[in-house]
Amino acid sequence: MNLRFLFALTVSKAVYHGMRLLGRQASYLPGWFAVKLCPDYLRHIRKAETVICVTGTDGKTTTANLLSDLLTASGRKVANNRIGSNTEFGIATAMTCSVTLGNRCRVDAVVLEVDEHYARIVCPKVRSDYIVITNVLRDSLQRNAHPEYVAGKLSQIDCPHAKLILNADELCSALLLPKNPRVYYAIARQEGDGVIPPNRVNDCPDCPRCGAALDYDYVRYAHVGHVHCEKCGFASPAADWLAEGLDTKNRRLTLRHGDRVYDLPMLHDSVFNIYNELAAVAVLCEMGLSADAIRAALEATALTKTRLTEMQVGGVTVVSMMAKSNNSLPVSMVFDYIRKKPGKKAVILALDDLDESKSSERIGWIYDTDYAFLNDENIVQIIATGVRCWDHEVRLLLAGVPREKLVCMQDELAAIEQLHRSGTESVYLLHDMSSYSRSVAALEKIRKVLEGAL
Ligand SMILES: [Zn+2]
Repeated sequence: MNLRFLFALTVSKAVYHGMRLLGRQASYLPGWFAVKLCPDYLRHIRKAETVICVTGTDGKTTTANLLSDLLTASGRKVANNRIGSNTEFGIATAMTCSVTLGNRCRVDAVVLEVDEHYARIVCPKVRSDYIVITNVLRDSLQRNAHPEYVAGKLSQIDCPHAKLILNADELCSALLLPKNPRVYYAIARQEGDGVIPPNRVNDCPDCPRCGAALDYDYVRYAHVGHVHCEKCGFASPAADWLAEGLDTKNRRLTLRHGDRVYDLPMLHDSVFNIYNELAAVAVLCEMGLSADAIRAALEATALTKTRLTEMQVGGVTVVSMMAKSNNSLPVSMVFDYIRKKPGKKAVILALDDLDESKSSERIGWIYDTDYAFLNDENIVQIIATGVRCWDHEVRLLLAGVPREKLVCMQDELAAIEQLHRSGTESVYLLHDMSSYSRSVAALEKIRKVLEGAL
């Protein structure tokens, strides 16, 4: 037994229990001590029978949490890094909790959400059995540069025996690590699917084999869909686990695997979350869980609620939502969600995008975002506020939104006073991480303004 490792494990456990006694979360420091004292800590720690790593741009937290919940619901003991960091130190903390002081594993499975930049370090060290790559999409430029850069990082994962669980509908991740064994999941063409990418952002327009322009058999958002190349015959990979029928009304989905078809609960009706659920179900199927066990686990599980609050003020619905600034696609999807809601709407944008860097002046994400989705006759007023209000105003004008619909004021509470009291059936308030702390006061102000109209 490696004494240096045992010392690191003892210290890591002592720090963990000490911090818990003090009421702290202990998600980062126990792992920090472990790795600093023994750089090979993750290699030495005893592994559970099944180790699953989940990485990718969007959906990794939801997918990893869902996998943990489903495995727990199916009677397995699970360790995970749900409460904390998804870098090497947070993962070391999760692994500390998965073993005894004598380095005996005390769980059946470990589920780790892994940051895209750390996957090449972590996945081999923890000897992953399964690696889920949810997708590689455009993300914050400061943190993740562009999809090719992230795909390049992920392609360095040296874990030849790990089985990959990949989204066949997302080409930037579907073709990664070609030597690894793999299974694909996808959603078959649905009624209403178009063939022209609906967003400004499309990071995969060309055939990866010959470079000719790709044709879409269907596309859902960005470049996520099924493609083929007329010139060389390339096509999206065939799905091993294919969601064929999506019954969003009754929240059921039918999943085909070869000749077999399973009827399963649908946990959430948004397409992102259906992909997340498919990734988790594909892992469980590959682990050998029966369809009945998976169905029962899904029925006992719910997705973590999104950061969305809703209240009624005198017949007006007020919805507060979190939108991830610096990342154009999720913001575009929020705009798309709002425009598809019925009734006359007002939208308040309080997106400061200061969470990544206090001194950041990179506003390129605003020009990648589909502000044109807000140029809709049912969106009757748009209030741009916060330190980026003028950037939002310029972008809205470029997207064709009539000037008379716009209010632009830096002071959020003063801006909300301009909210139209009549003719508005719902109000959408969008904050990001850096402005979220103001949302309670903003909601209170909206309530007062609307009540003043009663
Ligand atoms: Zn081609």
